[in-house]
Amino acid sequence: MTAFYDAVVVGGGPGGSTVATALARAGRSVLVLERERFPRFHVGESMLPFSLPILDRLGVHEKVRAAGFQKKYGAFFWNEDNGTTRPVVFAEARDPNHPMAYQVKRAEFDDLLLRHSVSSGAEVREETSVEDVLFEGGRAVGVRARRSGAAVPEEIRTKVVVDASGQGAFLSRKLGLRKFDPKLKRAALFAHYEGIRWPAGSQPGDILLPIDKGVWYWIIPFSDGTCSVGGVFDPDVVRFESGSGLEARYDATLARSARVLSLLEGARRVSKVHGISDYSANSSRVAGDGWVLVGDAAAFLDPVFSSGVFLAMATGERAAQAIDRALSRHGRVDGADFRRYTRQANRLWARFRRYVYAFYDPIFFEAFCTPQPPEAIRAAVVTTLAGGVERVSPAMWFWTELLFLGVTVDRTMRRLTGKPLPQPG
Ligand SMILES: Cc1cc2nc3c(=O)[nH]c(=O)nc-3n(C[C@H](O)[C@H](O)[C@H](O)COP(=O)(O)OP(=O)(O)OC[C@H]3O[C@@H](n4cnc5c(N)ncnc54)[C@H](O)[C@@H]3O)c2cc1C
Repeated sequence: MTAFYDAVVVGGGPGGSTVATALARAGRSVLVLERERFPRFHVGESMLPFSLPILDRLGVHEKVRAAGFQKKYGAFFWNEDNGTTRPVVFAEARDPNHPMAYQVKRAEFDDLLLRHSVSSGAEVREETSVEDVLFEGGRAVGVRARRSGAAVPEEIRTKVVVDASGQGAFLSRKLGLRKFDPKLKRAALFAHYEGIRWPAGSQPGDILLPIDKGVWYWIIPFSDGTCSVGGVFDPDVVRFESGSGLEARYDATLARSARVLSLLEGARRVSKVHGISDYSANSSRVAGDGWVLVGDAAAFLDPVFSSGVFLAMATGERAAQAIDRALSRHGRVDGADFRRYTRQANRLWARFRRYVYAFYDPIFFEAFCTPQPPEAIRAAVVTTLAGGVERVSPAMWFWTELLFLGVTVDRTMRRLTGKPLPQPG
């Protein structure tokens, strides 16, 4: 007999567990199908303050607090190309009510969120891969899933399929909706370290972001004293010896920056090296009759502003609200029920995407690292980097537009006067 649920969620990462918890708490029957057995390693370890109210609304914040994750109060950028720095202190945002976030090992964090989905009433099946989404008359009506080692798959019927499968973007690929963002073609190499001594001038717990010769690096500290260390680069620009392995490429990436080498002095790598490329993408549609995409499965921006987990949870929460409303209204979930969700999600991605594109613009980045930026502009930028992109006040809108206008004027003046663009040193 085929089982029947209000919602089937593909993937148990932060996007999937948020949908599952929110729907289960609303009294809906939810099944999460997760390919891996948790806890499992995942990249994406630095959170944003505006994720915390979502944790509150899901009723999981107390468990997160009790887990003792590293507290994060901001970020510290080094522009090695011109010797400037930019501390970002969340407490100095326009809205000072979101002063902190967490740095999390995703194995523990995602596991905690998924267990919370179970205690909220969702059913979770791990080591179970979704092999297909079933459509009838243009409407998603279920999935075909297989438990690891099972000879035959099982068909599971549902009123809505939520694709939260992350970079795999199961449904978006199946429907031909996934488009890579050529402006954000990047690759990343990363691993965990122990023994990094915290540099003077930056708050313990902050994410450190040195930028050097076309590569940006992250150092994310964890509460157990280890750190995540990664480098992000354009693979068409940063070249490696042909045939070199992941470890050699990682070491070569780190060795490009004297700042990074000095930060790692005396430290030791304690994990294997991981790599990922071509991850920035979006979907031309995010919902239809009986289906919706959330988190990375819908869109992923470059990770420079640590927005991925926030966006996965924020879109997950909004998708769950749309589903719950639709089920209450007419007992099914149509594409039209996701109109508001689509607008909300697109706005969230667009507000971050503008900053991500700007980060790779040398003129913007030079302005970002200006030693004494106008206070109102600095506060507007910090608010966005904290994740405050949902409700934008007229004042914040004004200062943000002024910043981007200033960058446009600078670019035009450079063109007219022949002044060169800031160059990587
Ligand atoms: C280099 C890099 C650095 C990053 N750094 C940060 C950071 O510092 N901070 C931040 O917030 N974000 C960061 N991110 C982004 C972050 O990792 C993602 O945005 C976040 O994990 C998205 O959550 P999700 O739930 O959408 O997907 P995921 O967390 O990827 O979860 C998807 C889940 O779906 C499961 N799954 C996939 N296919 C199937 C299937 N067919 N059947 C069943 N299960 C399936 C997977 O096993 C996985 O557990 C980074 C990303 C990259 C690439």
